Amino acid sequence: MTTTYPLHAPFSPADAPFPDQADVVIAGAGIMGCAAAYYLARRGVKAVVLDKSRIAGQQSTRAWGFVRQQGREAAEVPLMMAGMRIWEQLERELNFDLEWRQGGCLYVADNDEDWASFQQWMDVAKQYGLDTRVLDRAQIDQHVRGMHGKALGGLYTATDGQAEPRRVAAAFAARAVEAGARFFEGCGVVAIERGAGSVTGVVTERGTIRTRQVICAAGASSWRLLKTLGITLPQQAVRGTCMRTNPLPAVTASTFWGHGLGIRQRANGAINLADDMQVDVDMTFGHFRALKWFLPELWAQREKFSFHLNGEFVRDLRDRLPGAVSGGERVLHPRDPNPQPNRAHAPKALQKLRALFPALKDAQVVESWAGLIDVLPDGIPVLDEASSFSSSSSSSSKAAGLLVATGFCGHGFAMGPIVGHLMAEWICDGQPSLDLSEFRLQRFFDGTMKRPRSML
Ligand SMILES: Cc1cc2nc3c(=O)[nH]c(=O)nc-3n(C[C@H](O)[C@H](O)[C@H](O)COP(=O)(O)OP(=O)(O)OC[C@H]3O[C@@H](n4cnc5c(N)ncnc54)[C@H](O)[C@@H]3O)c2cc1C
Repeated sequence: MTTTYPLHAPFSPADAPFPDQADVVIAGAGIMGCAAAYYLARRGVKAVVLDKSRIAGQQSTRAWGFVRQQGREAAEVPLMMAGMRIWEQLERELNFDLEWRQGGCLYVADNDEDWASFQQWMDVAKQYGLDTRVLDRAQIDQHVRGMHGKALGGLYTATDGQAEPRRVAAAFAARAVEAGARFFEGCGVVAIERGAGSVTGVVTERGTIRTRQVICAAGASSWRLLKTLGITLPQQAVRGTCMRTNPLPAVTASTFWGHGLGIRQRANGAINLADDMQVDVDMTFGHFRALKWFLPELWAQREKFSFHLNGEFVRDLRDRLPGAVSGGERVLHPRDPNPQPNRAHAPKALQKLRALFPALKDAQVVESWAGLIDVLPDGIPVLDEASSFSSSSSSSSKAAGLLVATGFCGHGFAMGPIVGHLMAEWICDGQPSLDLSEFRLQRFFDGTMKRPRSML
């Protein structure tokens, strides 16, 4: 019998003794931090995981739940192919129901531009021997029931899958705790300390922990934490909206993108629905930071972004007043963002859904939410050790013992297990088993950053 939902519970009570030293400290208990803690624990390393808010309160429970290799930047494909091997046995390994379903991923092109990009992406699939195929209309209809509307062709990867984001990070955390990891919620890391080029500890809201090994997995706030070491990370956040419908007749076991819709149908028939890959940017003065890296792609992909001047701008302005937010608190700010969904998405998405699948005429949105997606200018994360950072990325350069896993650009839920696994290898074996050179931070500073197919 697998354990059932809901999984979340505070893993260390507020009065639990707080450590003053640890083998490894992980800043951030999203899926990256939780998975890393689990794989470390399996290797006998008992990490202390600190979250300024709570376990998986941000992106990792707000994702759509696509677990795909398809359509990624080439650099990510070998990583995700290795990641799929973990996903395929993850429910059994963690002994939790994660709503895992390996039903494939289907993209449908209704215009020439998408169709051309699908065909181009086949070069990436062939390069790595991935099982992606291009489909004609008849083949598409084998994977979606009763789809109306134009289809020039499809892109389909049978080994892709899906899982429920509200379950996975917490399952990793629960099993990590059983194996000796300790989680402290409501305890932010305010600074990383360094001596003689190596990490010596972390300053937290509950005191300093001496450690020689830190993983920065602080999602959209990672840039703030790295800044305490003088390390520049060109990271920004955009707001993504997702909706969930009532249970509906089954139309597909694949994750689906096409006709301006992203769809994942859960086992009970409810559909996680997104209005295309549209995101909102709530403008603040903070958006001028790192702008030079983002401008080319913001312009090239401008149809994906809606810019707003709203309450976020006022809040940001207020917070910048002298004394409004104290030094340490500024690193953690905002502590527990709860971005609101863009309400304009639901009617548009429902209309498209009903037109595309007439059998779903009774679809209603029963829940909608948003998450702050952390983006980097080239659409792929930073997975790196700070001992290799050179002076161009950091005024004070190296910090041996610091690993960085952040900037997943809206597709890191799927990467959580493999990234956690690789971080644990890096610490236990001295290096990861896959080549991560494409994910160096230094690419932003040495001219090797590549233009992405998509920033998200
Ligand atoms: C609407 C939406 C849809 C998405 N859909 C998909 C999808 O279908 N498939 C997919 O693969 N990915 C998807 N993603 C992306 C995916 O959710 C993220 O890439 C992934 O969850 C990132 O995990 P993380 O652990 O890096 O960050 P997070 O989950 O954001 O966790 C970071 C944690 O760090 C904590 N923290 C921050 N600063 C500090 C500090 N100083 N000290 C201590 N703790 C700190 C935060 O409180 C937070 O809990 C989606 C994201 C969104 C928002």
